[in-house]
Amino acid sequence: MLSFLIAAACQQHYSESDLLKTPLSNGATIICEKRESKVVCVDLMLSNRDTIDTPATYGYRHLLEHIVASSIPGHDREIEKVGGVLLASTGRDWMQFEWRVPADQVALAFRGIDRMLRDCGATEDNIRRESLAIGHEIDLMNSSQLLSRQAWKSVYGEEGLDPLGTKDSASTAKPEDLAALWKKMTRGSNVVISACGNLDIRAFTTSCKAILSGLATSKATPFKTRAIDGSFGARGSVAVPIPPLAASSDAASAALVAAFGLTTRLNVPFITYTPSDRGGLAIVGTLDPFESVKDVLEKEDPAIIFSLGRIGALLWLDSKLSTPEGAAELNGQFLSLAPSFRPQKLADNIRYTTYNDFLRNWNLMKEVAR
Ligand SMILES: [Zn+2]
Repeated sequence: MLSFLIAAACQQHYSESDLLKTPLSNGATIICEKRESKVVCVDLMLSNRDTIDTPATYGYRHLLEHIVASSIPGHDREIEKVGGVLLASTGRDWMQFEWRVPADQVALAFRGIDRMLRDCGATEDNIRRESLAIGHEIDLMNSSQLLSRQAWKSVYGEEGLDPLGTKDSASTAKPEDLAALWKKMTRGSNVVISACGNLDIRAFTTSCKAILSGLATSKATPFKTRAIDGSFGARGSVAVPIPPLAASSDAASAALVAAFGLTTRLNVPFITYTPSDRGGLAIVGTLDPFESVKDVLEKEDPAIIFSLGRIGALLWLDSKLSTPEGAAELNGQFLSLAPSFRPQKLADNIRYTTYNDFLRNWNLMKEVAR
């Protein structure tokens, strides 16, 4: 019965027949998937494998994201007028811009990507303006963001710096610093365009090729794995280090199965996880103030959790892929980690996780929980 559930949990969204992946000679990659949907999601993912945050440049990429997202006059309004939205975020391993637009308005995304890739538009004025906006954003960080910041710092030390920065961390940035960062982030091998929705995948790819053809040619430099510096456990949550997802995929799957397994036994569970090939983190916890994660870890039978964890991890993957925005994001993120890494590969690894690999992670969680 359990093996049937595991198979069923991951069938619906893995038909790759309407999917086209195109690597370009300059190192960039285009991936698009045709799917019946009112919106088309187009993601521009920029890997920061060449621009890893250091204490000296901490927060610069976040500032750059704000500046780039607002650098095209009238672009926001144009998108909103047709009922679309432009989203932007800065993660530890990439920066992401997403155009969510009606299917017949995909040209808006092409225009935006083309303009952004040409110039980041950093000036003294917009650095001042966006630094202030970031200050407000940091003041308003919610409890889940604060927990994540603390957990990453405890587990990875300086290598787990929060990409949002602090109120002061970007204050030293000059326009030329941001332009230099942008130049590195937009080298061919750091660029992925990933789209999902009701689009003509060949025409979409042709348009993207034209936009990306001017990028500098480069070869992806391997990610440097984050060194584990400590651990994080509280009464209501525990952090599980997830090894590099593409480079050590068996170990990563086992850690994910343990993390998702724990969520299945908590009263009001939450999990925060973003794929990474430098070493990631899943933060698992409960919102029930009367529940102790440690008690749950101590009393549960790991053999049962092992099966539930595989189903939980597959369902997470499936639910991400069930929406155009989730599919565009995950496809883009995975290709940004490694040129051939696909969700199907992770699904297979989750299915074939061994009990012993899982148990090692489960025991680690037990040691860390308070
Ligand atoms: Zn921001």
